[in-house]
Amino acid sequence: MDENPENHALTNIVQKRFQAIRSEKVIKQPTPLQEILGMTQQEREGFWQDQFKKCIKCYGCIDICPVYVEESDGLDLSKWVERGQVPPPFPLFHLLRAYQVWDTCVLCGECENTCPAQIPLKTIQDFVRYLPPEKVFEVIPGLENEARDEILNFVERRKKLPRGISYAV
Ligand code: SF4
Ligand code: SF4
Repeated sequence: MDENPENHALTNIVQKRFQAIRSEKVIKQPTPLQEILGMTQQEREGFWQDQFKKCIKCYGCIDICPVYVEESDGLDLSKWVERGQVPPPFPLFHLLRAYQVWDTCVLCGECENTCPAQIPLKTIQDFVRYLPPEKVFEVIPGLENEARDEILNFVERRKKLPRGISYAV
């Protein structure tokens, strides 16, 4: 095995592998989060409608969550959704659920891993954690005003707690 004359620490084989890796086209798939951020409003509506209509209301995403509590500082899911009943139109169930663990979610991704419909629930948690609610309503559109107000009031109440929260934007 000859030492590479241009780079004395490397053999020709290693040099060739380095060159191959450098020239290789690395195709990076965008994450769902990046994809959604890059969509138009209309595309987002279509995307989430497709996602949420797959939901079979198994409540696995709630049961698996290590930090979920039934009632979270007045953001009571049972006011809107009862087990055994068909939840109201998207994205109420999914957003309320996400906000119930707004500041305790450990971003473990188990909700998404367990979802039989493969709804990007971790992405929803990321949005809820890192974006203010007004922005979340843009990236996950379709929430009626009453539910929006409920979430905004909930977030304001939680902001006053010592733990607080900061957004990425
Ligand atoms: S990512 Fe958050 S909401 Fe999902 S299971 Fe983990 S702690 Fe619960
Ligand atoms: S685990 Fe998936 S299918 Fe089941 S209720 Fe949650 S979002 Fe819907």
